[in-house]
Amino acid sequence: MKKIQMVDLQGQYAKIKNVVDPSIEEVMNSAAFINGPKVHQFQKNLEDYLDVKHVIPCANGTDALQIAMMGLGLKPGDEVITADFTFAATVEVIALLQLTPVLVDVDPITFNIDIDAIKNAITPKTKAIVPVHLFGLPAEMDTILELAKEHGLYVIEDNAQAIGANYTHSDGSKTKAGVLGDVASTSFFPSKNLGCYGDGGAIFTNNDDLAHSIRGIVNHGMYERYHHDVVGVNSRLDSIQAAVLDAKLPHLDTYNNTRRNAARKYNEAFKNHPNITIPSGAKNCENKGNICDTCDCHVFHQYTLNLKDVDRDALFAHLQENQIPCGVYYPIPLHRQKAYTDERYNEADFEVTNELVKSVISLPMHTELDDEQIDFITTTVLNFINKNS
Ligand SMILES: *Cc1c(COP(=O)(O)O)cnc(C)c1O
Repeated sequence: MKKIQMVDLQGQYAKIKNVVDPSIEEVMNSAAFINGPKVHQFQKNLEDYLDVKHVIPCANGTDALQIAMMGLGLKPGDEVITADFTFAATVEVIALLQLTPVLVDVDPITFNIDIDAIKNAITPKTKAIVPVHLFGLPAEMDTILELAKEHGLYVIEDNAQAIGANYTHSDGSKTKAGVLGDVASTSFFPSKNLGCYGDGGAIFTNNDDLAHSIRGIVNHGMYERYHHDVVGVNSRLDSIQAAVLDAKLPHLDTYNNTRRNAARKYNEAFKNHPNITIPSGAKNCENKGNICDTCDCHVFHQYTLNLKDVDRDALFAHLQENQIPCGVYYPIPLHRQKAYTDERYNEADFEVTNELVKSVISLPMHTELDDEQIDFITTTVLNFINKNS
């Protein structure tokens, strides 16, 4: 059996080397390392893929979030609601911009931001909601957008984990995740579903004025050469990374399908087990919130189990001993991170996140997993749980 990896980027590269290498070489030969034609080409191709008017490439997914918030003109003291159960980047940029982060609990089934928790958190100072499409499953966007409209709030989608996912509206129509809110951010970090070979990110929007504003912000606040109208940042996608991404973009749907196939095999092994909850689907999708491994809404950035009456840390150690890498995303709720603690928070409001940090485990998930590896992983997990629970 091939050595199991959490993410197998070498295996993936070996298969696309013949398209990636010439694309990189083009950049080397042209020496257009910054804002070269490859960046434009990738931007256009991604706009077509997502069916969005504007993609603005930038240096990474964290910058993308920050720049989206700057573009919307959020001001110190504005409250921004986001999920307690996610990667820290989301709350970090809110705090950096001196906005007020308002962390709220998540749904126990989808792990995405909880609608009632958003409702309870809205105050006259609230300006925006940042749903994170966690682990590749879009948040409940129709309801979030309705709430936002009702209260005059912006919606910024953190789409770092769900590029290529299709969100199914209540009427059955579909929109790509990242094209639903006012603006969205994504990350091209190597392990993301569309990853480059370094850092990269992008902002998406259908709003022409916002796109114009953001294009200036990423370039030192310049709209005309050497005229700095607003305080901006320097955040660019390197041409070499754009070359990698442009070569990989045509494979994105296949990659996401491959992840789904792996998820289906995992699900088959784990479903109906009394101690294991397999990843949920989206409420509106064809499978109506059941297992989302045959429709196209979940892109399985992570394959995450929720365990009951299982010593998660003991299982983690057991998998490591068997050379099966695994992860705990995320082990500490953001509201309990030193940098983000706040006396406004009440532990009783984070019941779900406080449980999930103790009970979730993410198994290897990438485009190169084979049946032998998946069988070994599922058997090892099930043997341990059946013996110890
Ligand atoms: C990866 C990630 C980010 C940050 O992306 P970087 O490119 O590493 O800055 C932000 N939010 C979420 C949910 C992520 O998973």
